[in-house]
Amino acid sequence: MTSLEDLPLRPELRGRSPYGAPQVPAAHRLNTNENPHPLPAELLADLGAALGHAALELNRYPDRDATALRTDLAAYLSHTSGEIVAPAQVWAANGSNEVLQQILQAFGGAGRTALGFTPSYSMHPIIAAGTGTAWVDGSRAPDFGIDRAAAVAQVRDVAPHVVFVTSPNNPTGTAVDLDTVAALYDATEGVVVVDEAYAEFARTGTPSALTLLPGRPRLIVSRTMSKAFGMAGLRLGYLAADPAVVDALQLVRLPYHLSSLTQAAARTALAHTDALLATVDAVRGQRDRIVDALPGLGLTSVASDANFVLFGRFADAPAAWRALLDRGVLVRDVGLPGWLRVTAGTAEETTAFLTALGEVAPDHR
Ligand code: PMP
Repeated sequence: MTSLEDLPLRPELRGRSPYGAPQVPAAHRLNTNENPHPLPAELLADLGAALGHAALELNRYPDRDATALRTDLAAYLSHTSGEIVAPAQVWAANGSNEVLQQILQAFGGAGRTALGFTPSYSMHPIIAAGTGTAWVDGSRAPDFGIDRAAAVAQVRDVAPHVVFVTSPNNPTGTAVDLDTVAALYDATEGVVVVDEAYAEFARTGTPSALTLLPGRPRLIVSRTMSKAFGMAGLRLGYLAADPAVVDALQLVRLPYHLSSLTQAAARTALAHTDALLATVDAVRGQRDRIVDALPGLGLTSVASDANFVLFGRFADAPAAWRALLDRGVLVRDVGLPGWLRVTAGTAEETTAFLTALGEVAPDHR
């Protein structure tokens, strides 16, 4: 059998493993930060009609510029942020992972460097590797926040071409304040990408970096329909930035990268925004319920503005992960010693998780 070592693979990919949570069967899958609530029935009905309509034209290539979809996304961002975002400022792709990849294709690449503050979304360095971009780990404070002065000093020192700021951060749930984002922007001549995949779950009063866009042409805010919209299977991510950034991304995007079915489905989902986002408050409630229950179990958590909670501390997190799985609850071991991450979903899921954790905690703290 041929192995990877036998192939003329790029040296920087040798020895790496593909990204992905272990797909093990479990009664409660709380490991990938999905929204478990079923999609509203009226959306499903409209999706059927919209996809049927789009199918009539499947012999044709889709709208290469996704103009109508970008207009709808701009309206959504303007409506929710209070910041006017024009369609020319918006770009969409197959999941925000593809958006991030296009950003690194355009602004990273051979001879260039990206920096992100770890622990953070582990796909950032993987996409960097895939695009030949060097990666530098920036550091976080012990409470997993970003220390503004230290971060600015690191960015000045490394002079990266791309800076990633994940807010709310995955896997810690930590939001980054806008003064820090602005300071990082001023500290670099590169692009600053604020990955806001979980923005809709933020606690009230946590503003989006969208409000920083005016006057900052190197700032990019990326979003997704995978989390709050509950449409992870759709694969629709997007960003807002200066229209010149969108022009830059057009240089690297594949022609017709967003299928007409994806565009039609995303537009239909956006027409049902209120119904889709109606579950966000319930998910936030379950997140806070988890946070509140942990001290009673002798455990702690990191303050979370996302739909998940980083909880611990365990003497042996992989052993605690296994013990939870033995009780039918699949959480994520993100490789942080002492910590595990759980997705906040339905009330039933939280109950199952807290019940299992109540059995597991005494032996694993
Ligand atoms: N950014 C962050 C911080 C994430 O956690 C994720 C998904 N886990 C993504 C981006 C990518 O999401 P998608 O490609 O589904 O939009």
